[in-house]
Amino acid sequence: MATNYHTHCYFCDGQQEPEAFIQAALAKGFQALGFSSHAPVPFDCDWTMPADRAQRYYTTINALKIKYQNQIEVYQGLEIDYFSNNTHNLFAQYQWDYCIGSIHFIADFERQQYLSIDGSKADFEQTLDYFQGEIQEFVTEYYRLVREMVTEVQPTIIGHFDIIKKNNQNEQFFSEREKWYQRIVLETLKVIADSGSILEVNTGGILRGYLSEPYPSPWILRECSKLKIPIVLNSDAHSPEMIDGWFDEAKALLREVGYQEQQVLLNSKWTTVSLETGKVGR
Ligand SMILES: [Zn+2]
Ligand SMILES: [Zn+2]
Repeated sequence: MATNYHTHCYFCDGQQEPEAFIQAALAKGFQALGFSSHAPVPFDCDWTMPADRAQRYYTTINALKIKYQNQIEVYQGLEIDYFSNNTHNLFAQYQWDYCIGSIHFIADFERQQYLSIDGSKADFEQTLDYFQGEIQEFVTEYYRLVREMVTEVQPTIIGHFDIIKKNNQNEQFFSEREKWYQRIVLETLKVIADSGSILEVNTGGILRGYLSEPYPSPWILRECSKLKIPIVLNSDAHSPEMIDGWFDEAKALLREVGYQEQQVLLNSKWTTVSLETGKVGR
């Protein structure tokens, strides 16, 4: 059993047309592939889908779903940004097969500022400047937004839980061993455990050369396992060859931290499958 529900094609910042991803998935023996273009955001952004493309994205993937229905399950999803403001809450606009809820920005609505979390290091430093250089405040606000998203909109999947670490190579900005960091993470995991959302294990940071570990970090995954938080393994692929990148290593890691199973969308239902055998059931 191979699946991936976090895929970016040329409707947003991914490379190649959606069909190329389906061909790659077929070649790799996938059972299901879900597309998750970045939903439009309420300001100019060069990597999200412009609002006027959303309809064509929907119809294109829907046509592929039908075309390939005897070979692979194709799903229509979206990766949606959560903003802490009702008028910018884009989740209600879309009723697709599933949504991935992600925090890529910290918004200051009064000043019309949207500060990047996972952009370049220079972008990250600019956002840190907004917090007067106080990394603890920046990180605390990020996880507060994650908790708020989970309780306010209950996304099907919570995207890249600790993406705040993307620019933190060599602990340049903070250490994950610090008490304050661990406390915020654990507090956030408890909210997720009670939510019904599925937490994503995302290998995209590794595939794009930023990190040597997935989102979330192994110590966090161990805590997730203790809290019995359901997980789904996703690659956040932006090119067809990456759709199952680092999946073998991630499955080994997940089993090491205590996970026996993951959730996959099959026959339009979230279903438990074994990490060891790939079969449905425990
Ligand atoms: Zn994302
Ligand atoms: Zn993504």
